[in-house]
Amino acid sequence: MFISSPVYGGGGSRSETEGAAASQKRKTPKEEETPLPPPALRATSPVNGGGINPVIVPMLVDSHVNLHSEKFADDLEEVIARAHEAGVGAMLTISDKLTSTEAIKEITDAHKNMWRSVGVHPHYAIETPDLSAETLIDLAKDEKVVGIGECGLDFYYGYSPQDVQEKVFRAHIAASRETGLPLIIHTRDADERTKEMLEEEHARGAFTPLLHCYTGGRELAQAVLNLGGYISFSGILTFKNATDIREIAAWAPMERLIIETDCPYLAPVPMRGRRCEPAHVAHVAAKLAEVKGLSIEEVEKATTENFFKLFSRAKLEAE
Ligand SMILES: [Zn+2]
Repeated sequence: MFISSPVYGGGGSRSETEGAAASQKRKTPKEEETPLPPPALRATSPVNGGGINPVIVPMLVDSHVNLHSEKFADDLEEVIARAHEAGVGAMLTISDKLTSTEAIKEITDAHKNMWRSVGVHPHYAIETPDLSAETLIDLAKDEKVVGIGECGLDFYYGYSPQDVQEKVFRAHIAASRETGLPLIIHTRDADERTKEMLEEEHARGAFTPLLHCYTGGRELAQAVLNLGGYISFSGILTFKNATDIREIAAWAPMERLIIETDCPYLAPVPMRGRRCEPAHVAHVAAKLAEVKGLSIEEVEKATTENFFKLFSRAKLEAE
């Protein structure tokens, strides 16, 4: 029902009744009787120094959005409002290159429960071939910065030469190690080299890797889990031909999984062909629930808790 329902689609189509029903579903009667705030206070694990995060569950987190994309330029506030309506209580908006930093900062500074990363996508590595860890560490001083990346290796498109991609990736790894902020990794057609580099660098000093929008094989996934890392699944999980990825999602431990849209790209089924937006992460959660044989509520709760455990610098504020 959840999957075929048009509730989260297209925006503006959602009726008042549907909205009320959905928000009721997100609250248990007990929570409604409890005076505000906080509904739940939960200690996070001591990853990255630990701390207390007030996690209000159930709610969804979209762990990878590209809100500075020109595709959102005309209606960003409506997109964010639709996400909230769909139960998405927090988002991490991702850096693709250093020249995007200011635009991204402007968006995250203007919104609660929205954080950002600093980093350079492998496609753009060629624009900053001499990027240093120090530059990233300096940019990461802002408390809204909760992760390093996205960075990594993309040998499918190969927009930047391999040696440049690797050099820039290493600068991110060093910054992740130094700051204790998770490393948000993009990897495509580069499983073997990504695994080698992560293992080699991890032996020099620990950092926490996250494989975002995962489409790679089991070996790399296992290697990252062995390093204490996490895996994030996107709308690709819902694609008809994504059997291999669903197998990895079924196999990987739930306590290391988070979800994302990678919007405006990769709209999940049944939104294929449209612009993707954070509200659509609900469809990723629904598919992950199906693959895992869990309820949607269980997946919401687990992925939200995992997000705050991994990105422990992200502190949820009351809206
Ligand atoms: Zn990516």
